[in-house]
Amino acid sequence: MNRFSSVWLIILLLLAGCQFGSDAGPSWFKGNLHTHTLWSDGDDFPEQVAAWYVDNGYSFLAISDHNTIAESERWLTIPEDHPRFRVFERYLATSPEEWVEWEQGVDTIRVRLKTWEEYSEVFQDPDSFLMMRAEEVTDQFEGKPIHVNATNIVEYIEPKGGGSVVEVMQNNVDAILSQGERLQRRVMLHINHPNFIWSIRADELAQLDGERFFEVFNGHPAVFNYGDSLRQGTEKMWDVVNTIRLRDGRPLMFGIGTDDAHHYQEIAPSRANVGRGWVMVRAGALTSDAVLAAMDDGQFYASSGVTLQDVSFDGRRYHVSVEPKEGISYTIEFFGTNSDHDPAPVAIKDPDSGELISYRYSEDVGRLLQQTSGAEASFEVTVEHLFVRARVTSDQVMEFPVSELELQRAWTQPVQPGQAW
Ligand SMILES: [Zn+2]
Ligand SMILES: [Zn+2]
Repeated sequence: MNRFSSVWLIILLLLAGCQFGSDAGPSWFKGNLHTHTLWSDGDDFPEQVAAWYVDNGYSFLAISDHNTIAESERWLTIPEDHPRFRVFERYLATSPEEWVEWEQGVDTIRVRLKTWEEYSEVFQDPDSFLMMRAEEVTDQFEGKPIHVNATNIVEYIEPKGGGSVVEVMQNNVDAILSQGERLQRRVMLHINHPNFIWSIRADELAQLDGERFFEVFNGHPAVFNYGDSLRQGTEKMWDVVNTIRLRDGRPLMFGIGTDDAHHYQEIAPSRANVGRGWVMVRAGALTSDAVLAAMDDGQFYASSGVTLQDVSFDGRRYHVSVEPKEGISYTIEFFGTNSDHDPAPVAIKDPDSGELISYRYSEDVGRLLQQTSGAEASFEVTVEHLFVRARVTSDQVMEFPVSELELQRAWTQPVQPGQAW
C-alpha cells in the first residue's frame, strides 16, 4: 500500500466512523425556552444568563424577552449607588477584556447591552450549545396578560391585540406562524403561564388553531401552576384542552416546562429563578430544525427535576422508565380521558357579579388510570381512551422550589391509541 492509498484508507475509516456515529440514534437534549434578561425585566446581562445555562448542563436556550429580539442599540444608565451597579461590576469582572462597552459618568455608568447577534455568537457551539432567537410576545385583553412565546424567529413580532382572549391569542399565534411561512423557517410558539392573573381558561386555549404547546410548568412564583379552589391547575387544564381539541378534530396540545427566570441575583421562593423547569428533547441533532421537529412530534418531556431513561409508545403500550437516583423513590401515574366522555362543563360564577370565573369539568377528564411505585411502568392504551399521558413524581423537593411542598416531576406527552411514535 503506497502513502496515498493509506491516506485514503484513513479517510474512509474516518467516514465509516462518522456513519456509525450517526447510527447511534437520537440523544436527549436539555433546554429552556423561556427566560429574561436586562433587555426587558430580567435582572442580569444576557451573556451572564446564557453562561448559567451553559454551565449547568443545558444544550439549548431561547432567551425570550418581552416584546424585543435584542436588535437595537440600547444603553443602560446605572447609578453607582443602585443595587444593579454590583450586577454591572460582576459583568465587567467576568467578561473578557474589552468585551464590555461602557462609559463613566458623574456617579453613574452607561453600559451598552449586547445585541442578539453579539451575545449568541459567544455561546453557539454546533457540538454542545444551541441558542434560538425568541421573543415573549406580550399582549393583553382587558387587563388580562396574554403572553405567547415565539422561538427561532428572526424578526420582531409586534403584539397584535384583538377583541377577546381567544382572538388576542389567535392573532399572535397567526403572526408567529406567518413569519415562519414567509421566511420558510421552522418556528415554534407556545402559550405562556395561562393562570398568570387567571387570564386564560382551558376552553379558550382549546379553541386555538395552529397552536401545539403550552406551559404545564412555569417556574415563576406568580403563575398558579396548581390553580386555586375555584380554578384548575395547569395539568387539569391540559387534559380539558385535549379532551375538547380531540373532540373538535384538532391535534393534541403538548406540555412544556420553563423557568421564566427574571431574577439572577437572589435565590428565593419569591423570586423567578433559574433551574426550575425545562424540557428534555429526544432529537437526532442539536440544531433548531431537529429540536423543534422532535418537539412537534411529541418527542420530549417537561421536567422540574426528574430525568427519564426512556419513554416509548408503540401504539398500544406506553412505557416510562426513570433514570433512578440512589435513595429516591418515584411514583409513575398515567392520566387520560375515556373516548366516550362528554366534557360538559359546569360554569362557576362570581356570586356577586355573576361573572364567569371558570368551568368545572368532571373527574373523568384526565382521570388517574394507573399508579405505580418504582422507576418503571407501562400502561395499555386502547380505543377506550381518547388520550393518555404520564407523570412521574419523585419524593424529593425541587432544587429551587417556589414552595417547600413542590416535588420534582416529569410530564410526558399525551398519546392516542394506535398512533405510535
Ligand atoms: Zn409572561
Ligand atoms: Zn416571561
